Amino acid sequence: MPDDMKPKTKPGLATRLSHAGRAGTHAHGFVNPAVHRGSTVLYPDVATRQAAGDKRLDQYMIYGTMGGPTHYALEDVIAEIEGGTRCQLVGTGLAAVTTPLLAYLKSGDHCLMPDSVYGPARGFATGLMAGCGIETGFYDPCIDAAGLEALMQPNTKVVYVESPGSHTFEVQDVPALSRVAHAHGAKVLMDNTWGFHHFQPFEHGVDVSIQALTKYAVGHSDVLLGSIVTNSDEDWERVRTTSLALGMYASPDDCWLALRGLRTMAVRMERQMKSALEVAAWLQARPEVAQVLHPGLPGAPGHDIWKRDFTGACSLFGLVLQPGFSQEAAHAMTNSLQLFGIGASWGGYESLALPTTGFISRTAGTGHLVGQTIRLHIGLESPADLMADLEQGLAVLRSNSLTPHT
Ligand SMILES: *Cc1c(COP(=O)(O)O)cnc(C)c1O
Repeated sequence: MPDDMKPKTKPGLATRLSHAGRAGTHAHGFVNPAVHRGSTVLYPDVATRQAAGDKRLDQYMIYGTMGGPTHYALEDVIAEIEGGTRCQLVGTGLAAVTTPLLAYLKSGDHCLMPDSVYGPARGFATGLMAGCGIETGFYDPCIDAAGLEALMQPNTKVVYVESPGSHTFEVQDVPALSRVAHAHGAKVLMDNTWGFHHFQPFEHGVDVSIQALTKYAVGHSDVLLGSIVTNSDEDWERVRTTSLALGMYASPDDCWLALRGLRTMAVRMERQMKSALEVAAWLQARPEVAQVLHPGLPGAPGHDIWKRDFTGACSLFGLVLQPGFSQEAAHAMTNSLQLFGIGASWGGYESLALPTTGFISRTAGTGHLVGQTIRLHIGLESPADLMADLEQGLAVLRSNSLTPHT
């Protein structure tokens, strides 16, 4: 939609998150929806049972696997944030990756994935998908339209994108890649977890948007959850049918916790984005650091496309240490940090640090980074405290190095 045709009165994210997916009159006037747990759905008579279907407006559902009011409330909010029409919830972010891949690919098909794709997505493609006779080619995430065009095969049914890439944060030209995919009749599936709310997938040519709600939506590192959002009836049917066939499900208790997390997400993300940019800029000026991989940082790789396509950034980024520092020194630095937990995942209220050198797989022959890499997630702590902690960490790095930098 051209900018001048967009409704000018669309409320801001914080407003929408305060009002979407509320209980309305269904919870006896209470502000929030109730947790509806259940398998069996009871009917007053057989005819009502036979008329029940998998439609959101039906008064009666068929069975718990099809979701209930708590799921619907969360689905409404997620579809709204992503700018799509319908949302399917699944138990984890990884299930939100694998379900649409299985929905659009069958034996004999070809899939293209960026070399920087989330590790378990790569593992699914080279493992289970390959075992089902689905071939996957990994491409340079920074490829342009002509480059993708050259990789498209008559049987390419899915062009998968993830922008920025996991661990290495390459920003992809999603609109250009989507145009090529669509010209060949392929679907564009996007892992949009990093860009949640800051990147509107359906305005950039994406057909199916994947979210690990485990991250900022939940926001407290205590729930795993995934969502798949579509923007057409056809895509919805495909994703919904596959999800039900696989028995995918999300716990209503977890959905309720995600709804609760979402109410404060706008303020958390705003604060964490600001803190992360402050820490990233500080790191960029440090002599021990060769490169800061934060697309929102002026001068960082991918910044131009990020500026064109994104309205903000999350608080996850990478740093590349100067090539003189060893893996042992990078690990000693990470171990010395007091305010950063060492662990996977991100999007919670707490800061994390993770050496990532061993997690970066590259088969497309491009994008090799020289120097140890560390991924940082910036939480809600005061940035000054985080920078003081990193400062002492960098001192540990230097003291563990055979070729110390001064
Ligand atoms: C965390 C993550 C996932 C998977 O989410 P889980 O809920 O942990 O399964 C998928 N994609 C990206 C980019 C992630 O960071």
